[in-house]
Amino acid sequence: MKSKKLLLNTFDYELFLGQRSGSVDDCLLTPTNLVLDVLLKHNMKAIFFADTTHLLKLKEYAARYDKCHRDFELVKTHLQTLVREGHYVFPHIHPHWLDAVYLPEINEWDLSNVTKYRFNSITNEDREKLFNGSVNLLYEILSYVNPDYKIDSYRSGGWCIQPFEDFKPFYQKNNIKYDFSVLGGFYLFSSVQFFDFSKAPEKSIYNFSNDVTIEDPNGEFTEFNLSSIKPSAFQRAMHRVWLKTLHRVFNDHSYNRGKGQIAQQLKNEGVKGGSKVQNILTSNHERVSVELLTKPKVNHYLSYLEKNDYMHFISHPKMLIKHHLKSFDKFLTAARELYDIETDFRKMV
Ligand SMILES: [Zn+2]
Repeated sequence: MKSKKLLLNTFDYELFLGQRSGSVDDCLLTPTNLVLDVLLKHNMKAIFFADTTHLLKLKEYAARYDKCHRDFELVKTHLQTLVREGHYVFPHIHPHWLDAVYLPEINEWDLSNVTKYRFNSITNEDREKLFNGSVNLLYEILSYVNPDYKIDSYRSGGWCIQPFEDFKPFYQKNNIKYDFSVLGGFYLFSSVQFFDFSKAPEKSIYNFSNDVTIEDPNGEFTEFNLSSIKPSAFQRAMHRVWLKTLHRVFNDHSYNRGKGQIAQQLKNEGVKGGSKVQNILTSNHERVSVELLTKPKVNHYLSYLEKNDYMHFISHPKMLIKHHLKSFDKFLTAARELYDIETDFRKMV
């Protein structure tokens, strides 16, 4: 009998969040549809964390701009398709959408004002508007497909889920039980983005109550820790060569789709914890992700799965090129031959 492995495929369904957002077609619809083909082939479920702050903005601008109306309808229909095909759609919030500037000539957004990047940096009134508004909007969209559809899971924008006390009343009010925002062992202190998971439990799934990095077996919330790996120097070098070749020879790349925000790193002396603690901007450890998966890493991903019973991918359709999906397909094909794979998070708790 094959051994059982838990495989979580999660995707942040969002535009680029810096100077130029990119378009709904290039960053959401087209690449997500390529993802769906692979998932369908392997009969696997995925979770899509939809940037509901983008959706709320589109809805707000829909009356003024036809193109915003069109984009809102396209995304809405697409999210309904995802649920109809058996996947999950849950909210994902990037608060600096509050200050997004619409660029009507190109039908994109300028999100370079990042003063409101964190949930922590906005007022309680804005928190209510964004969090409750996100959950309500998704219910409105998804209960059309399934009247019993339940929104009980969340992933925070840019991993900024701390301090959790900012979120807790909203989790309770909206019946959010499952959190997917922790990348265990990593930290980032920057002028805009902040997270510190250096002390998170080295466990794949655990309960918590007041702090996402402190396990509480009786806690009312459940964390699904994200997985990370450390490719060898050779694999990293080969990875770069592949990307360069794919771009230059096969025109397979994601350049110019949009411009994201690069976090400015701040010097910090506070985090200690030896080799298991990683600065996300400088570490050779990296999240497990379809957009970081090229052919030279496929075997490394498979050996991770051999050693671990749980593997949690965090990926972004906007970053995906055809080769990533080909490598992901290769990984899934081999994984399915070896193991009995569960991809439904509800069956993991
Ligand atoms: Zn995001």
